[in-house]
Amino acid sequence: MNKKIFETVFLSILLTLILVLGASITVFYNTYENRISDDLMAELRFLAAAADGGADISAVTAPGRRVTLIGQDGTVIFDSQADYGSMENHLERPEVIDAIQHGYGSDKRESDTLLRNLHYAATVLSDGTILRIAVPADTLFSFMMEMLLPLAVILLALIFFFAWYSMKAAKRITDPINSIDLEHPDSADGYEELSPLLFRIAKQQATIREQIEAAEHRSREFSIITDNMSEGIAVIDREMRLLSINRSAYMLFDAEEAVAGDSVLAISRSDIFTEAIASALSGKRADSVIENRTRTLQIIASPVMEHSSVTGAVIIIMDITEKAERERLRREFTANVSHELKTPLTSISGFAELLKNGGIPEETSRDFGREIYDESQRLIALVHDIIRISKLDEGDSSESMERVSLAEIGSEAVSRLRKRAESFAVKLSMESSDPGIVMGSPTLLDEMVANLLDNAIKYNRRGGTAVVSVSKDDDRVILSVRDTGIGIPDEDKDRVFERFYRVDKSRSRASGGTGLGLSIVRHGAAYHHASISLRSKLGEGTEITISFPAV
Ligand code: ADP
Repeated sequence: MNKKIFETVFLSILLTLILVLGASITVFYNTYENRISDDLMAELRFLAAAADGGADISAVTAPGRRVTLIGQDGTVIFDSQADYGSMENHLERPEVIDAIQHGYGSDKRESDTLLRNLHYAATVLSDGTILRIAVPADTLFSFMMEMLLPLAVILLALIFFFAWYSMKAAKRITDPINSIDLEHPDSADGYEELSPLLFRIAKQQATIREQIEAAEHRSREFSIITDNMSEGIAVIDREMRLLSINRSAYMLFDAEEAVAGDSVLAISRSDIFTEAIASALSGKRADSVIENRTRTLQIIASPVMEHSSVTGAVIIIMDITEKAERERLRREFTANVSHELKTPLTSISGFAELLKNGGIPEETSRDFGREIYDESQRLIALVHDIIRISKLDEGDSSESMERVSLAEIGSEAVSRLRKRAESFAVKLSMESSDPGIVMGSPTLLDEMVANLLDNAIKYNRRGGTAVVSVSKDDDRVILSVRDTGIGIPDEDKDRVFERFYRVDKSRSRASGGTGLGLSIVRHGAAYHHASISLRSKLGEGTEITISFPAV
């Protein structure tokens, strides 16, 4: 900028200088020439007067002047600087023609006789002859040449001066601009013309500050959202470099902390992950599932498009461990249900087929009929338990909750199952030191106690006992069912609450078990916010305790 201003100022001054000098020389030249003509004319008048008075012209002529006398016919009568005898007729000379026509004439041209530039002036004397005087025009030229050197020196000095001046002027303009503090343009010292610029800079600064604050606010907002998300989120560029990543993204992979600039492969190098990213970067959305030691993760990688070309990808990582586990259980349950239903149905179908063909003795057909009835009862019990467990599974809260006495429920169950217990030669009894009031669903609680008591009967020994007990311990109501039965092996204790898990399949089936009883008990306990514990010793007996929050 400094250079530009210097060039502009200096060239303008230089041009002005040259133009002024040129114009001055022209004016000077013209004035000088007019002066010569005027002087020449004055001298001519003086000479004419002298000649008319009879004076000797050559005596009164100033040195260096050429004087010529021309007769009326154009013959040169006298010339002070040339051999007038050999000179041609001068009647056609412009100054002579003018003198004859107007009394006076002048001209400037190269002399045919002397071969140099001359100023001529002519007039007609009283006797009709023409008097002409001439001075060389080169006197002006030589005068100008003499002026050239001092002029050149002055010009050079002026050029240096103006160069220095232009430099100073440029600095005076640019220094205040260069020293503006862009952060605080208001505090800048400068000339008045800078004010609009400073004002605009200040306005621009305010806009930039506002934009930066808005961007920071958005970025903070984004960080708060992503940092508090349980899902992992990562944004990468074309070169797989992380542009942004939240905590969950690397935590879900149990990887070290990754930050913007790292490769996304720092959080996982598994083939499925790498393929999902490669697919997104090639423009195709990928949805994959990765199973590691502890978790099942769903990876959704979507391409980021800009002007129809991929510039990066957004990766979302979700922990679907629970969902996957639920799905696995559901699949297992469906397979088990089909299998459990198939056995009694096959048996019913077989007996029915035999009956259909006829020719069976009456007693045998009665046996078949009993078998069909028993299997149907098993089917009904199974379907009932399946419906019950499915409802509990779905978190069906349609059960009416009310104040219930567990002691009453226990007593009812004992009396209801007494007959069944007798068929297994098992003695039932009820112990209650407290009414055991809880908030709960009477139907579901009754079902739970009945299932536990039924197991205590089924898996007992002949002559054994089964006891339902209700007591209160601080703010808990304790319900337990204990028996003197076969007990549960240690390795099966954790699994007996699983659906369709039976320690002894044939014994369970023979006694009408569905394999869902304890599973319903576990769900029911969870529904009532109660906890379950199991104590059992092989060959000695089992006790299952449920601890309810007291009302
Ligand atoms: P089931 O309909 O077969 O009784 P449950 O879910 O009620 O199914 O019980 C699962 C399994 O746990 C039973 O098959 C049985 O092997 C075992 N079990 C349950 N209760 C007792 C108990 N009181 N004594 C011994 N084993 C039991």
